[in-house]
Amino acid sequence: MVKHSSRIELKQSAYKNNINFIKKKIGDKAIVSSVVKANAYGHGIRTFVPMAEKCGIQHFSVASSFEAEEVLRVCSGNSRIMIMGIIYEEDIPWAIENNIEFFVYNYERLPKTLAAAKKVGKPAKVHIEVETGANRTGLPQKDFLKVLNFLKKHQEHIIFEGLCTHFGGAESVSNQFKIDMQHKRYKAFLKQCRDKKIMPNIRHIACSAAALAMQDTVYDMVRIGVAQYGFWPSPDIYFAHLHETNKKADASLKRIFTWKTDIMDIRDVEQGEFIGYGTSFQATHKMTIAVMPLGYSNGYPRALSNRGQVLIHGKKAPIVGLINMNLFMVDITHIKEAQLGDEVVLIGRQNNNVINVSSFTNSTQLLNNEMLSRLPAAIPRTVVK
Ligand SMILES: *Cc1c(COP(=O)(O)O)cnc(C)c1O
Repeated sequence: MVKHSSRIELKQSAYKNNINFIKKKIGDKAIVSSVVKANAYGHGIRTFVPMAEKCGIQHFSVASSFEAEEVLRVCSGNSRIMIMGIIYEEDIPWAIENNIEFFVYNYERLPKTLAAAKKVGKPAKVHIEVETGANRTGLPQKDFLKVLNFLKKHQEHIIFEGLCTHFGGAESVSNQFKIDMQHKRYKAFLKQCRDKKIMPNIRHIACSAAALAMQDTVYDMVRIGVAQYGFWPSPDIYFAHLHETNKKADASLKRIFTWKTDIMDIRDVEQGEFIGYGTSFQATHKMTIAVMPLGYSNGYPRALSNRGQVLIHGKKAPIVGLINMNLFMVDITHIKEAQLGDEVVLIGRQNNNVINVSSFTNSTQLLNNEMLSRLPAAIPRTVVK
């Protein structure tokens, strides 16, 4: 197989470290569901999921049946898969057949699930997602009694596996009143279950931010996305942690991701010459530049034109000119030892220097999550110790 123009390495020891940290924070009673939607936030489902299993994860959450199928293909038989978002009606029998659990956020879905479970001859496992104030998906209060009655009547075919909700903005202190309100409404749903004497097997509402900063939102399971990849959900959550632990700084969460390529060509550019398309960069002195074999079509943001940096021999090499579709150039005049084929770090650490995703996203206005999740699935991912 021929080589791709860049590659992503996932550091297993860093991931193990993150999971240990999260477990220590939440206590050992709650299940950690690893949220691997958006191709595992760009880390790559196919590589990430088996690595996570080696670190003790046995529950994966995805946004769609399409992603569930990808996880199913690479996970071991012991892991559970939960679809939090879209599954089309015609795919419900497939989910039941493969023990894949899914969110139900409207009443209409239940009779269809019942019919599918009967057809497959196996019970369906559903998580009722309730509306508590995020107003995206979530079953409204007015339909809940009807749902509980339905579940009670058809227990043989539909397992009430979970009762859940999702916080809209738990990463920000200024949303705290809204998060508290959502939690309160969730508790009211739980009370209705108790009153009706039909309880879910597991209760789960916390995402990374809630799990790390609001201990009382940790029920039987937490759904952890961004934190497991080594990112604090927000400065608010990081500072809350520092406050709680009485520390000045904390490196408990470690990035597991490094994005690399190699120098494709090296050339000299005379003073006064322009580099690449147009006239956006003119050499003010005689320069040596290195050509990178990737561009915006490979997930490298065009907004980093004339702004970003890469690492070569542990030194920062600034981007000169525009990011092209498949190429961009960097200034290596000050890196005399650079040679054709040398390794380049686009995101991550090299020797004593580091390029963070945040340094990337500060200048592009992208969210960390957005930047990572846009990295093309075609880039090969590998695990390193
Ligand atoms: C994405 C998502 C999560 C994980 O969120 P993080 O902030 O990345 O931990 C949890 N629950 C639901 C429903 C989600 O969509």
